[in-house]
Amino acid sequence: MAKRLSSQKLLKNNVLDTQLCTGCGACVGLCPYQAIYNDRTVQLHYCDLTEGKCHVYCPRTPTDFESLRQLLFDAKDLTPEIGAVKAYYLTRAVDPEIREAGQHGGSVTALMELALAEGLIHAALVSSGNDQYLRYGTLAADKNTIRKSAGVKFIVSPMAAAFNQFVREYQGRAGVVATPCQALALAKMKLNRDKDETGKIKQLQLVIGLYCGWALSVEKFSALLAQKSIRIDDIKRMDIPAGKNILELYTAQGVKEIPLEEAQACVREACNYCIDSTAEYADISVGAARFGGTVDEQRGWNQLIVRSQRGKDLIDLAVKRGVLEIKEAPAESLRQLKVAAMEKKKSALKNIARKSGSAKKLLYLDNRDVLVRRILGV
Ligand SMILES: Cc1cc2nc3c(=O)[nH]c(=O)nc-3n(C[C@H](O)[C@H](O)[C@H](O)COP(=O)(O)OP(=O)(O)OC[C@H]3O[C@@H](n4cnc5c(N)ncnc54)[C@H](O)[C@@H]3O)c2cc1C
Ligand code: SF4
Ligand code: SF4
Repeated sequence: MAKRLSSQKLLKNNVLDTQLCTGCGACVGLCPYQAIYNDRTVQLHYCDLTEGKCHVYCPRTPTDFESLRQLLFDAKDLTPEIGAVKAYYLTRAVDPEIREAGQHGGSVTALMELALAEGLIHAALVSSGNDQYLRYGTLAADKNTIRKSAGVKFIVSPMAAAFNQFVREYQGRAGVVATPCQALALAKMKLNRDKDETGKIKQLQLVIGLYCGWALSVEKFSALLAQKSIRIDDIKRMDIPAGKNILELYTAQGVKEIPLEEAQACVREACNYCIDSTAEYADISVGAARFGGTVDEQRGWNQLIVRSQRGKDLIDLAVKRGVLEIKEAPAESLRQLKVAAMEKKKSALKNIARKSGSAKKLLYLDNRDVLVRRILGV
C-alpha cells in the first residue's frame, strides 16, 4: 500500500509550492517546524504527522463549507454573494480621535476598544508593523495599543499565527482582526478543534473581518518602491480613494501616489485564487463605504455587515454605549457590494480552473458545494 503523505508534505505540495499560500499564519506556532519569513510561510524541518492541524486549519486545503456555515450562522441569513447578513449598515466611530487614527470610519478600532472595555475580551489581536514595513499580529490589552494599531497597510499580517501564539501563552478571551482568508482559517479552527482543545477555541470570542480585494507581495512591492525612490519604512498607511485609480501612501513627507495598475502588478499570487472579499466567516465584517453615494458622502464611513448573533450583540451594545454611529445603508449599496463580490468569486474560479487545467478541478474548493455551484451558475 502506498505510504500516506504527511500533512506538512501535503501543505508543501498543494499550498506552498503552488503559490496558493495566503500567509494567514494558521499553520504557524502549532509546532516548531513552520515559521514566517518576511511575508512568507516556510517549513524549517520535516514532520511526518498525517493528521496535522497545519493542514486542517489552512484556508487553502479542502474545507467543508456547508458545516462551517451551519456551525456559525443562521441559515436564513445566508446569501451566495457575501455570506451571512443579519444587518448591513454604514458606520463610523463617534469619537473623532478614533476616526482620525482609523483607516476609514474607525469602526474596527471602536468595536475592539468597546469589547475590551466591557470585558468581553481580555485582549485584541490587531496588526502592527516594524521599520522594515512588515506586519505582524500584536496583542493589545489596553485601548491605547488598539488605537496605535489603527490604519492599514495592504501587506499580509499573519493574524492566525498571532491567535495560535495567544492560546499557547494566555488563558483569557481574545478578539481578532482578520482578512477574509484569516477569518476562514479561524473558522476552520472552530470546526476542527480536537476535543481536548475546545477550551482554546472558546478563547476566540470575536472575529472582526476586513473586506479585502488583495494584498501586496512585500518582495514585488519593495522593488516597485525602490524604482520610485520611496523608502518602505516611511510608509505609515495606505489607501485607495473611492473613484480614483491610485494607491495612496501616507508618509512623513506627505501623501505619495502610485498608479493602481502598477501596484496591482505586485499583488500576491495567492490572492488571484481568493473567492472572499467581505470576510464571510467573521462575526462582523468592515470595509470602506464605497457604494451608493458621492465620494464625499462616503469618506470617513465604513460599510459593516453583521453576520453572527455575537456580532449583533456587540453592535447593539456599541449603539447603546454611544461608541458607534450607524446609518441605514442604501439598498443600492448592498446591491453593488454583492455584484462586486460575485465578480471576485467568478474571476477567482476562472483563475483556479486555469491553474489546475480543468474546470472540474477546483484545487481547495469543492465543485459540489452549493455556493460554489451558484458561482459556477450550475
Ligand atoms: C490587505 C487588505 C486589503 C483590503 N482591501 C479592501 C478593499 O478592497 N475594500 C475595502 O472596502 N476594504 C479593504 N480593506 C479594509 C479597509 O482597509 C479597512 O481596514 C476597513 O475599512 C476598516 O476600516 P476602519 O476605519 O474601521 O479601520 P481601523 O479602525 O483603522 O482598523 C483597522 C484594523 O485593521 C488592522 N490591520 C491593519 N492592517 C492589517 C492587515 N494587513 N491585516 C489584518 N489586520 C490589519 C489594524 O490593526 C486595525 O485594528 C483591506 C484591508 C487589508 C488589510
Ligand atoms: S495555513 Fe495559511 S500560512 Fe499556512 S500554508 Fe495555509 S495559507 Fe499558508
Ligand atoms: S485577497 Fe484573499 S487571499 Fe489575498 S489577502 Fe485578501 S483575503 Fe487573503
